Formats: sequence, C-alpha cells, structure tokens
Amino acid sequence: MINATTVAMSANSLINVHGPPLHLLDGILPMQLIYTLVDQLIDFLASTNDMNIWVQFLILSAIAAFGAALIFTITCPLSYLYFFVWKKDKYHPAHEPQPFPGQIALEIKMSYKAFPFLSLLTAPFFVLEMRGYSRLYWNFTAENPFTWMNFLLMTVVFLVFTDTGIYWVHRFEHTYTWIYKFIHKPHHKWINPTPFAAFAFHPLDGWAQSLPYHFLVFFFPMQLGLYLGLFVFVQLWTVSIHDGVDWCGEKEGSLRSYYLNGSLHHSIHHSKFVYNYGQYFTFWDRIMKSHCSWHQLLERQERLRRGCNKRLFDEQKE
Ligand SMILES: [Zn+2]
Ligand SMILES: [Zn+2]
Repeated sequence: MINATTVAMSANSLINVHGPPLHLLDGILPMQLIYTLVDQLIDFLASTNDMNIWVQFLILSAIAAFGAALIFTITCPLSYLYFFVWKKDKYHPAHEPQPFPGQIALEIKMSYKAFPFLSLLTAPFFVLEMRGYSRLYWNFTAENPFTWMNFLLMTVVFLVFTDTGIYWVHRFEHTYTWIYKFIHKPHHKWINPTPFAAFAFHPLDGWAQSLPYHFLVFFFPMQLGLYLGLFVFVQLWTVSIHDGVDWCGEKEGSLRSYYLNGSLHHSIHHSKFVYNYGQYFTFWDRIMKSHCSWHQLLERQERLRRGCNKRLFDEQKE
C-alpha cells in the first residue's frame, strides 16, 4: 500500500537518507518546497484508501483525466507551434505531404473526448495499486535503499516490457478487421499526423495500448516516483513520434534509427498501416518482419514508380 511516510529528518533539511541523492539539487531547486508538496500529494492519495471504493475510483479517474489533459494541452500545442508553424519551412515545407484541412481540430476534439472515458477505464488499476495489490512502492528504507543499478534495471524492464506489450496489442488491433474498424481505425484517420494526433484515438484503443504499463507493476517491483516519471516520458515520446521530425536521423541512416522507432518510422505506420507497430524500439518489428525504414520505403516506392510488380512493396512480409 502506498503511504505518505516519505522522508526522514536529517540535519536541517528533509532528506530520505535511504533515497536518491536529491539533496544535491538543494542549491538549484527549492527542494524543501518540493518535498513538502510531494508529501502532501502522496498523503492525499493515501487518504483515498479510507474512502468508499467508488469515491476513490471517481477521484482517481478525475486526477488521471486531468493529468492526461494537462500534458496534452501543454506539450501538443508547443510541439505543433514549433515544428508546424515557426519552423515550418525547415520541418514541414509546403511541397511535402500536409495534414488535411480541419485535421487539427478533429485531432483535438477526439483527444479531449477520449480522456474521460480512458480515465474511467484505467482507474480500476489505480484503485488496485493504491490498495496495495501491485508491486509499486514509494519509500526507500534501510532494507530497500535507492541504488542507481536498481533504478537502471527498473527503467530497462519498463521499456522492454511495455514496448513488447504495445507491439503485440497494436499488431493484434491491425490483425482482426472488426477490432481494427471498431477501435484503432480512428487513429489512422491521420495519414500525416500532427503532435495533436498523439492522443487522438478511441478510448478503448488508448486503454488497450496502456495495458502493458498497468500489468507491469503487478509483475515487477517499481518505485512509484520512477514509474510516474517514465509514464510522463512515454507521453512525451508519443507526442514526438507524431511530429514528423527526423530527430532520430532516419534519413541519414544513423545507428540510433536502427534501434529506435523514431518519428519517421511511425509516420510510415500511419501512411502504410502494415509496418512499424513498435513504440520505442524496432526489435519486435525486425524479428516479426514488420519493419520498414525510411530508405526501404523510398526504394520500394522507386521500384513501384519504375513499374515493377506492386507486390514487391510487400516482399518483406512474405
Ligand atoms: Zn500514431
Ligand atoms: Zn496502427
């Protein structure tokens, strides 16, 4: 169960002597204020365990919906304004494929419509986590102290487990026509997505693709602060793979683009449907032969342009 005994008093500042060396940030950030606010937040969340379970469910749903809407409202417009407006000539010049007229308004509308339903679907996991059924923990203790190795291990487990889960959920959604039509097709309305498309999906689609994050903490021990930090990272990653910007060096064929499912990889998924189902990495797509790099796409388009058999386009799948 998550409770609020987060800090142990040490000298004049609030430091958990078994936790990460956050006191090193004392000179840069108002750490005492941050400790106090975090403690109050954890205290409040822990207090919902004493409430009626349905009240707790509704409170956690509301917090989740608010959090998702807040991240969307801050990050998506910033990304859009920078890459599609201010630096448009560099990143999305007029001669390249553009979003269709009215697309952004539809993406925003679909996202805000999804948040409340998605949060209601997800809140049962939060209730179970708050009531101590998962392996999430908050406090570092003498028996369970912070180590960098442990944090690194939890991060690797998080990324590998969730990337694997999302690959298969996503592929499953594409495999069965009725599932695709019912829950995943709305996200494929965006052939040339903008950052606002990151959360523009059917609530069941968002829920299905979030299942790996929730199952994870029932299988593996995870520190709540790290878990929430990684969860925010996932949201930022999701925005970034919909901005159409080659930050991964895919056009130049960089080494990192070999391993990472960057923005251009995901753009190929939006326009060609049958490639690049992964979230962060290309491992599963390479193993299952559903990978298509930017250069492979250009080669295939060139062969098609020269009049070769259209089936060549799908040769990697065969
Ligand atoms: Zn997408
Ligand atoms: Zn898809």
